[in-house]
Amino acid sequence: MTKEVESTTKTIFGKEKNPSSIVPVKLTLDSKLKFRCHPGVRCFTACCGGIKIVLTPYDILQLTKRLDIPAYEFLHKYTQPTYLEKTDMPGVMLKLREEDNKCPFVTPEGCTVYTDRPSACRYYPVGMADFHEGGSRDADGNEQTSGEEKFFFIVREDHCKGFEEDKEWTIREWRADQGVDVRDEMNKEWLRLVMRRKSFGHQATLSEQAKRMFFMASTDIATFRKFVFESSFLDTYEIDEETVAKIKEDDVELMLFSFKYLAATLFGAQVMKIKPEKVKAKIAEIKMRQDESVLQSIKEYEELKAETERKKAETRVENK
Ligand code: SF4
Ligand code: SF4
Repeated sequence: MTKEVESTTKTIFGKEKNPSSIVPVKLTLDSKLKFRCHPGVRCFTACCGGIKIVLTPYDILQLTKRLDIPAYEFLHKYTQPTYLEKTDMPGVMLKLREEDNKCPFVTPEGCTVYTDRPSACRYYPVGMADFHEGGSRDADGNEQTSGEEKFFFIVREDHCKGFEEDKEWTIREWRADQGVDVRDEMNKEWLRLVMRRKSFGHQATLSEQAKRMFFMASTDIATFRKFVFESSFLDTYEIDEETVAKIKEDDVELMLFSFKYLAATLFGAQVMKIKPEKVKAKIAEIKMRQDESVLQSIKEYEELKAETERKKAETRVENK
């Protein structure tokens, strides 16, 4: 393995260890790119080692289907824990092979999961900066759009010979070819959760329980389905029948639904409603607790008063 490859860290969010390889030019969807990657390039699979590939929920969903194994087995065999985007949000990245520090899915013939390869592998070498991901929303949690917030850039590393190939396309064409557009759509709301957490910084605390829920929903859709259908979840939230039917059968729909649920529970986004009767019951419960504490205070006050009176009476008797 070359030195350049070892010093490189690639994530879906962009370069982490080698920012000098980012070409400092802002590109649009119509900008041209001369690049091609195929088994004939000298560097074939050189970019599949010494890297950090953070997995999105959609990546995990596709890879577990491809490998036909449950999420917990996939997580155990092929991933290791990481924190997302220097936040305290837990996630997973591909666990590189101990013997050669390469991706577990790479062989000399190429990627064995190519059509289901993770988003980060598809983006390379075109990065995208999306300033909207910080989650600018109004007080009700609705998205606020303000014109063009995205641009693209090229990550150009010495070991990558794809730039010497004679194929030219626009960024738009290249992204469509790599299936990046579909991935962007699938990852969008999840990435926003991470970027919102990042923009909040460490001032806002997130409970351990909330982090566990984020991890579970992000990595194991089967367990999240159990949580939805085998707990009091559907009794608590107002979810229309059509959505219930969709998320029961369709993993992708359930994944997209989980992002909404996380936005509501982690950041208070007004995207899911608790049933009115549940809200009423909660208010009644709080009121009952308050009433009980008022009664308890009155009782304690009366006891204290009685005690004081008793002591006063005793003092008067002694002074006689
Ligand atoms: S998943 Fe495939 S493309 Fe991505 S790093 Fe592994 S072998 Fe390379
Ligand atoms: S051309 Fe670039 S992307 Fe393709 S295998 Fe070589 S290093 Fe990887």
